[in-house]
Amino acid sequence: GFYQPDCGFVRNPKGLAQAYFDAAARLGAIHLRQRVDGVARRNEGGVTVHAEGVTHRFDRLVVAAGAWSASLVKQLGDKVSLDTERGYHISFGPETAGLLRGPLVLPGMSMVLSPMHDGLRLVSGDELAGLAAPPNYSRIRALIPAARRAVPALRDVSPRSEWMGFRPSTPDSLPVIGPSPQGNDVIYAFGHGHLGLTLSAITAQMVADTVAARALLVDPTPYLISRF
Ligand SMILES: Cc1cc2nc3c(=O)[nH]c(=O)nc-3n(C[C@H](O)[C@H](O)[C@H](O)COP(=O)(O)OP(=O)(O)OC[C@H]3O[C@@H](n4cnc5c(N)ncnc54)[C@H](O)[C@@H]3O)c2cc1C
Repeated sequence: GFYQPDCGFVRNPKGLAQAYFDAAARLGAIHLRQRVDGVARRNEGGVTVHAEGVTHRFDRLVVAAGAWSASLVKQLGDKVSLDTERGYHISFGPETAGLLRGPLVLPGMSMVLSPMHDGLRLVSGDELAGLAAPPNYSRIRALIPAARRAVPALRDVSPRSEWMGFRPSTPDSLPVIGPSPQGNDVIYAFGHGHLGLTLSAITAQMVADTVAARALLVDPTPYLISRF
């Protein structure tokens, strides 16, 4: 195993996302939970968003729909190459949360064991099967014997939960961050692949600086959608 004692990591990703959400709400953000069916630029500037029978008009739109962003990009007249690298996890339950002090990478087996707030998490590599196919949990279940060889204390513990997620991925493994070539009333923020949690704060900073027309902390050129 490849043990990374200095690696920073998040034990509770949902807790971090909730903290971001709460901070945004304190700053005045309004949360509407609706499925977006269509987006369009307005001739007079700004953007129209159709969601569940309601039409919203906004001065600016940030497209941050993960692996589902491509159809919105197309509707806005831009193009991108985006697919999903599906990944699976198995959680072994709270009694295993203290078994490791940090993430353990087993490169030969394409798996990672991470200590999370709710137990040790086994994470698999990539599956290229698109957005619509049902999960195939046999892929991650097949790794349980190897996880038990790596951490023998898992031998007597049964998996508690399984989960599949969609990593939004580009051919060059770089995210898409920045304004549309057609105008900065549309800003893109998706395609972070394996690093969406890690890069969430800097991405938000880049989006906020773009909206506010401030100088960016990093050169945005490699991340612009115009590279496609
Ligand atoms: C197994 C696994 C392990 C991972 N481990 C790590 C890790 O250790 N570290 C790390 O940094 N990253 C990790 N990632 C990657 C990380 O999860 C992703 O990069 C990140 O979730 C992408 O965030 P996002 O907000 O762009 O997209 P998402 O998290 O996919 O969010 C997009 C949201 O948009 C919504 N949406 C889509 N279409 C519409 C629509 N039309 N209308 C309304 N809403 C819509 C979706 O419902 C979803 O809520 C992992 C991923 C997987 C699958």
